[in-house]
Formats: sequence, structure tokens, C-alpha cells
Amino acid sequence: MRLLMYSKALYSSWLYYSPDRILFDAGEGASSILGNKAFAIRRVFLSHGHADHVGGLVGLVNIRNNAMGDKEKELSIYYPKDNYLVTEMMAFLARTNRRLTYDLEWVPLVAGDRVPLEGGATPRYVEAFPTVHVHSEKSLGFNIVEVRHRLKPELADLSQEEIVTMVRAQGKEAVTQHYEQKLFSYGGDSVPIKPAYVEDTEILCHDTTFLDEQDRKEYKHASLAEAIQVAREARVKKELICFHISSRYKGKVKEIEAAGGHFDGLDCRVTLVPPGRVFVAE
Ligand SMILES: [Zn+2]
Ligand SMILES: [Zn+2]
Repeated sequence: MRLLMYSKALYSSWLYYSPDRILFDAGEGASSILGNKAFAIRRVFLSHGHADHVGGLVGLVNIRNNAMGDKEKELSIYYPKDNYLVTEMMAFLARTNRRLTYDLEWVPLVAGDRVPLEGGATPRYVEAFPTVHVHSEKSLGFNIVEVRHRLKPELADLSQEEIVTMVRAQGKEAVTQHYEQKLFSYGGDSVPIKPAYVEDTEILCHDTTFLDEQDRKEYKHASLAEAIQVAREARVKKELICFHISSRYKGKVKEIEAAGGHFDGLDCRVTLVPPGRVFVAE
């Protein structure tokens, strides 16, 4: 598991999820910081069309066409359907990149849509969920979901031998049931996410524009206390990543790092991503 990310509210936000080669949002500077990894990206999921989340597409689409690397790797960009700013960016990129060496695909999504991911040992998909950011801006969050199998609970008392016998007679499906585990949830810019959408996820990346509730003037982002509350209600298992922290706190990196850790009533660890720093999570 490896995450590489950068966020500074209003300036730039992006997050690279390397196990599935996904870039969530594409703020300015994404391709220059990712370097060679810019060629590794298979899919980009855009949470919404604000400049600090799509500004890096200009560089990314161009780099994959011109820099040293495999220039034939296809790239798919998913975005909230009917998002005006993304649609304008798409048109601009089409006009200014008439001769691409690779297939560039734009895919509109609505909440509930699923995108299958290939290549993993177990089947996985990305599922879009609704978020609320600004009224005029269509926005989505995304879950990476893994389909897993486990022994049917009603067979828990059987011996190993009895299970083997059942599998031989009726096949593996007779003893197992499948369930879905969210591995990673990305909310983009959003007021507190409805916990049901990210329930039981292993890692939640949540808008934390405001560390101090009193700094918030309008209801279009979230505070640290709210992000923690969402993680608590959603029973996040491993980690809450507090993302999109306002640059007003950039002088407080030490305090920000110290604000993470363990909180009462929370199963997961809390990590705050200092604004303006490249951040790696293993
Ligand atoms: Zn933003
Ligand atoms: Zn925004």
C-alpha cells in the first residue's frame, strides 16, 4: 500500500494510489512531482472541476505525449457527469493535443457507477458516491472496493474435513459467500461525507480545510472535528487522512503533525497532511 499526495487548499490537491495506479484529482504540479510515475497512472478520478483539482491535467496529458516514457499507455479520466468546468477542460485539451500518441478516454460518472479495475489478485472496482461541496459544482467521492470470499457463517462449526468434503461434492461456492471491503475512500472537497457512503472503509481521505471550526465562514468544506466524527461514525478501520488543509496553517507544520495520532472512540489512526508538502503514506 503506497500513497503519494500533495494538498494545499485553493492551490493544488492530488493523491496517487499506487496499488491500482489511480490519481485522485490532478492539481497543479502533479506530473512534475510524480515524474516517471506520471506514466504509471492508468486512471484519473476527478472529484470536481475546481482549478486546484484539475489544473495539473494540462501537464499530465502533455507529458504522457512528449516526455521520456511509454507514450502509448492509455489513460482514462473519470469525472462527475455534466460538470461544466471539467467539460471545458476536456474541450481545451482536445483542441490543444490533436495528435496524442496514446488513447485518452473521458468517462462521465454519476453516484453509484462502478469502474472495474483489472490486474489485482482479487476483483476490485471503484464506486462513485455523492458529496456536497458547492451548489454550482457537481462533485463525487470514490471508494476502491475489493470483492472477497469467506466461509459461510452457518458453516463455522464444521471441521476442516467436513468442509473439504463439501467442497469436493458441491464446489467452492457451496461453502463460501462473497463480501465487499472498501480499501480506500476519497472524498475530494466536501462538507462532512455521509458516513454510510464510506462505512467500514480501511482508509478515509477527508476534506479537512479548517483545523479550527471558528475559521470556517461558509459551509462548503469540513473541519478536523467533523472529519474525525465522520471516521468515528463510519467505523474507519485503519487511517483517517486529513487532506486539503488550508494554507493559513502552513506555519504550523509541527502542530499539524502533532495533532494526528489516536483519538478516543476512534479505531483508526489520524494523519494530517501538512499543506504544501509532498506526503508519502506506506
Ligand atoms: Zn479544493
Ligand atoms: Zn473545490
